[in-house]
Amino acid sequence: MSSAQERADGETAPAEVRERHAELCQEIDDHSYRYYMGRPIISDAEYDELMAELERIEERHPSLVTQDSPTQKVGAEISVEFATVEHLERMQSLDNSFDIEELTAWARRAENETEIDAYLCELKIDGLAVDLVYENGRLTRAATRGDGRVGEDITLNVRTIDSVPEQLDHSVRAVPELLEVRGEVYLPWDAFEEMNTRLADEGKQPFANPRNGAAGSLRQKDPRIAATRPLAMLVHGVGACEGASFTHQSHAYESLRDWGLPVSDLYRVVRTIDEVRGYVDYYHEHRHDPGYEIDGVVVKVDDISIQRRLGSTSRAPRWAIAYKYPPQEVTTTLVDIRVNVGRTGRVTPYGVMEPVRVAGSEVEFATLHNANEVRRKGVLIGDAVVVRKAGDVIPEILGPVPDRRDGGEREFVMPTHCPECGTELGRQREADVDLRCPNSRSCPAQLRERLFHVASRKAFDIEALGYVAATALTQPLEPAKPPLRDEGDLFHLTVDQLLPIKSLVLDPDTSEPKTDPDTGEPKVVSFFANQQGEPKKTVWTLFEQLEEAKNKPLWRVLVALSIRHVGPAVAEDLARHFRSLDHIAEADEEELASVDGVGPTVARSIVEWFQVDWHREIVRKWREAGVRMAEEGAGGPRPLEGVTVVVTGSLTEYSRDSAKEEIAERGGRVTGSVSKKTSFVVAGDNPGSKYDKAAELGVPILDEAGFGVLLGQGPDAAIERRVNG
Ligand code: NAD
Repeated sequence: MSSAQERADGETAPAEVRERHAELCQEIDDHSYRYYMGRPIISDAEYDELMAELERIEERHPSLVTQDSPTQKVGAEISVEFATVEHLERMQSLDNSFDIEELTAWARRAENETEIDAYLCELKIDGLAVDLVYENGRLTRAATRGDGRVGEDITLNVRTIDSVPEQLDHSVRAVPELLEVRGEVYLPWDAFEEMNTRLADEGKQPFANPRNGAAGSLRQKDPRIAATRPLAMLVHGVGACEGASFTHQSHAYESLRDWGLPVSDLYRVVRTIDEVRGYVDYYHEHRHDPGYEIDGVVVKVDDISIQRRLGSTSRAPRWAIAYKYPPQEVTTTLVDIRVNVGRTGRVTPYGVMEPVRVAGSEVEFATLHNANEVRRKGVLIGDAVVVRKAGDVIPEILGPVPDRRDGGEREFVMPTHCPECGTELGRQREADVDLRCPNSRSCPAQLRERLFHVASRKAFDIEALGYVAATALTQPLEPAKPPLRDEGDLFHLTVDQLLPIKSLVLDPDTSEPKTDPDTGEPKVVSFFANQQGEPKKTVWTLFEQLEEAKNKPLWRVLVALSIRHVGPAVAEDLARHFRSLDHIAEADEEELASVDGVGPTVARSIVEWFQVDWHREIVRKWREAGVRMAEEGAGGPRPLEGVTVVVTGSLTEYSRDSAKEEIAERGGRVTGSVSKKTSFVVAGDNPGSKYDKAAELGVPILDEAGFGVLLGQGPDAAIERRVNG
């Protein structure tokens, strides 16, 4: 039966549907109330789902639609904490669309009814709707949206917000006698972080996200507390107005701005729905650019006479719609907090959560950085937590939902001993925040991570030695014994040592064992041997790549040694200057620190590294195995000494890395950005802005052939081959 027929029949819905309907209404009302208090216990996505279920029921059974239904009303019941005030004009909510089709359908409906020539697109700020009243230019009242008709008087708190003027500016245009203006109060991201740190320092519960922080701050009973909260406001609408009129929404915004009210610079007036789509797509990708949380885009018909013609429902205008981006925040349970041990022995707590889908992927683990951070976030094991994953960004636990606690939660206690080797943990320096496992040489976790690093692309680049292989070599399951005491033994491995090894498969981010989806048991693999116990192909690849690694340039050896603060850039500077590992090992702090690109911290770290016996032992074993410990032709001619080169675009004969190495081997230096000091810019295909910069500064530009001349015949010959000037 269609809903129209049902309405005509006046049929009542079955009892179980009515029951579910009542249950949903109650549940949604409860969540709304908590949300407007700044203390929601479910995520917006979960809330939207409840609402969608309610809408589906009401669509099928229109007899259930009453004025009290959450689908028909705005906001929530208001609390008794503040005095109530009646808005001069009703404040509404917005209808939502969750994909472009819904948005386009809305526009099509509106365009069928009226002649729309422009849309105003703006960001949907995830804050709190607030209504301001100015009488003869003076702020006389500020209120929450409440149920749209009546809100709470929060004038004293709103007066503490810097961007809200007490007095309108009349220098550009006359101010109206009466102006009711609506907008969003919010906390910018950096202000939110700062505020949470302060709250944690004061032993108070931090907020799980900026919206809750804004709502909680705005509803403070004591305006002196609200004044310490770095709230901001942007206005996006006009209610009652006497003494001024507007033809367009954009026109209203210009006036509001002239009167000194905070209007966003990011709205755009566009002509077509395609352009609306362009705006929606742009901010989907640049969601973080504004510096405050947005949950979508709001599209409004710009012409106010058309807005009037389109009118409103009881809940929302027909002339505007919100386009909601997929949620980046969800709530889940924090099942445990565990720690893992990194390459340098740093012990890092991380949260284990009930797996949950957010921003397109499943999330189960999130780092918590250190014990202070766990305290700062105020999370307990067993808590419901808000998890955020912004695009490709690593998932983050924002904070707990304290209102969902049932007393069964417990505090996380940082372990005193290494979870992997049992050694007592300590701090390297007294002031350090981080705890470390001091058993650097043999702690299997540290060795595994170092080995993985030795093989990484920025060190020896040994593809066959990935995380599974690194785990197998350092933590084989009994009865096999680890074939390596430390990374010094890597080039001495034999096939016989590898074949008996079976090991777990660990997650590189957390070192949690992965489980077999069929059995639920931890996955065990025999990485090197096939079922017959013979070597897999990967074994031969590994040996081949180890052989190749022995001839890699000196800077890669340096990176592979896992010396603190020595990454590829510093390693290249050191290699260029000293030309051999022995020279680096012999240099004192002063000499090291004098090298371009190497500071005192790095210098000290290098000297300290070489003071450790087993570190020198690694160098000895690698040398013995045939690893090259000096630049090729060290001591030979350095035709590119003092020459700095920027490589841009793609070359046919060289990869980025190999071009760099060719330059470095001749004593030249490769940098990332073009300046007046750059000697040459080597431009391959699709070179981009560096090419333009070089042309502008008059830096000689070489094509690939010119680059060949630079390498083969030196800078003087190459100058002749420049393609510019
Ligand atoms: P809404 O937040 O979806 O949209 C309406 C509001 O958007 C307006 O009142 C206005 O204040 C605001 N807004 C922001 N930028 C704007 C702009 N540029 N122009 C116009 N308005 C702008 O609707 P709502 O009725 O306020 O709240 C419903 C939503 O709130 C739900 O979809 C859900 O996401 C969330 N919510 C969550 C919970 C929870 O428990 N997690 C509970 C209730 C509501």
